[in-house]
Amino acid sequence: QEGNPQLAPTENVLVTVRIRPLNETEIRMDTDGVWHHSPLEHNVLKLARGREGTRDDKEWVFDRVLPPNSTNSSAYTTSARAHVKAAMDGFNSVCFAYGQTASGKTYTLTGSPNDPGIIPLAISDLFSQIRHSPDREFLLRASYLELYNETILDLLSPEPRELSLAEGKKKGEVVINGLTECAVRAEDEVRRLLRKGEERRKVGGTDWNTRSSRSHCVFRTPLPTRTPGKKNAGTQMTRISTLSIIDLAGSEKHTSSKERNAEGKHINQSLLTLKLVISKLADMASKRTVMHVPYRDSKLTRLLQPSLSGDALISVICTISPSSLNVAESMSTLAFAQGLK
Ligand code: ADP
Ligand code: MG
Repeated sequence: QEGNPQLAPTENVLVTVRIRPLNETEIRMDTDGVWHHSPLEHNVLKLARGREGTRDDKEWVFDRVLPPNSTNSSAYTTSARAHVKAAMDGFNSVCFAYGQTASGKTYTLTGSPNDPGIIPLAISDLFSQIRHSPDREFLLRASYLELYNETILDLLSPEPRELSLAEGKKKGEVVINGLTECAVRAEDEVRRLLRKGEERRKVGGTDWNTRSSRSHCVFRTPLPTRTPGKKNAGTQMTRISTLSIIDLAGSEKHTSSKERNAEGKHINQSLLTLKLVISKLADMASKRTVMHVPYRDSKLTRLLQPSLSGDALISVICTISPSSLNVAESMSTLAFAQGLK
């Protein structure tokens, strides 16, 4: 039984909370953020004194808290780099961004031209690792799909296309029939793919803003790796690990009557199932027992099942708004984050 080289079993789930900077509207209405983050404690979050009737000493502890002035590059270093490395070493790895709409999920994963996000940073890291291991020359490929109302849309196929899931040959394996995988030969190609995906989502029908906050976006790159020790195996690849990076649907409560129907239910169901699955894994690791994990309760967890089991490494970055206007939703995000362990 191979162990994970980077992290102990109970550390297989890494939970980060990232506070985005105040935006202009918030500055106009609110002047300063409500979340207090001490520069000396990298994992503790408190509400500023006297806020929202909480006790002054109420604090939340996570693996890492990233303050409003943090860069995507520091988010990458603290919360994704080990996962990318592990994926190169043959372990399935997955990185989620969870949070209310407009809290910074897409910014964290995709980034801006001056501050590239986790996806482009992961790709450059993969390129540099491939360059530094000349015996492992292989082509990077990537897929990008959207899960909307439990249907899977291929974001990279030339024509809009719905895809279906099927059981693979091996136990627990999941296959997405007909999924497009594009070759990625340079760092900026991944940005082009992400843009192409965004364009595809825009033509998907429903109002784009609504749609983008109601769907999960899954970016994946399969990495063929050789089992260590088999020096003479030539170019034969013996194991494929997958790096998956997921921009989750907005976690806010859906209040209008339209949103309380099927769409809202699908989102709530898939985020709830995700939390259950991840917390079960943490529980199984700490108790060293086997339990039932409800992968099949949502398409998201079914699709990600191989990346949410066994030796897989999981990172969840929970993004929150700094503003008092959003404090209730931020607290519910923190509750989700605490429930993962
Ligand atoms: P979400 O994907 O969670 O809906 P976005 O990533 O689109 O939220 O962020 C909402 C807005 O806030 C965007 O205009 C984005 O550029 C900005 N933003 C979010 N996080 C940051 C950050 N850490 N630094 C600067 N701007 C940010
Ligand atoms: Mg977004």
